[in-house]
Amino acid sequence: MNEPKATFTAPAAQRCCARAFGSAACDLDIAFDVVDRASAVTALLVSCVSDTQGRAIGIDEPWTWTLNQRLQALIAMRLAAGDAIIELQVACSACGEAMALDLDLRTFAGDPAAPRFTWYDDDGTEVSLRLPCADDLRRWRRDGVLAQETLAASLIESVAGQAVGADHHPPAGWLSALDDAFAAHDPLTALQLQTRCPACDHDQPVACDLEAWLLDGFAGTQAKMLEEVLQLASAFHWSEAEILALPRWRRAHYLQQIAARGWA
Ligand SMILES: [Zn+2]
Repeated sequence: MNEPKATFTAPAAQRCCARAFGSAACDLDIAFDVVDRASAVTALLVSCVSDTQGRAIGIDEPWTWTLNQRLQALIAMRLAAGDAIIELQVACSACGEAMALDLDLRTFAGDPAAPRFTWYDDDGTEVSLRLPCADDLRRWRRDGVLAQETLAASLIESVAGQAVGADHHPPAGWLSALDDAFAAHDPLTALQLQTRCPACDHDQPVACDLEAWLLDGFAGTQAKMLEEVLQLASAFHWSEAEILALPRWRRAHYLQQIAARGWA
């Protein structure tokens, strides 16, 4: 039986395949580290993404991908699992009513945002910007960079046609406009949803950290795998490796039988 896969466009317009997470024994090795999220995403992508010939990507390759490109790859992994809907729980900021929002990942899947783009300030000065890649996150984390000005400056490549270095200080007036420019060019990375409360009709923007929600889903899949191993090992005394070597449909069959016979 062929493993389900979804294709997506990786950097340099190369087509790649993503497999469903939870279909290989090595998926239990991924550490869902909430502190170093970028490393967890990189490990996931290295494990689940291949080129269209089935060749693995390099272990450092996803560090060079923009956050937008990484999101597209994570979405493709989720679509390969046939699981397109993320259910978000939010509370109305006016009346506190709990609301459930269904996000259909198929509406977000597509070509990644261009890694470079041009923005003009109020005076018409042309500014060349690049989207942050995971290597930037790693460097900012290592150097303890938190100042918005420093983050923004490191993503400016040139001003009025002149290349600028990392020591370039953008005018303070640019900072919030730059934030808006990045959000407009790459709406997926800083996703904003608009929702209306069914109880009080209040219109509310909802900031959605799509990467965090996707990671939550993969962590849930891993927890389910571990639970299945535990149930099958308890019932049949098979080893973890033996259980994980079974195709998913056979694991599901034995689990059904355990439930039907009341063994669990
Ligand atoms: Zn409300």
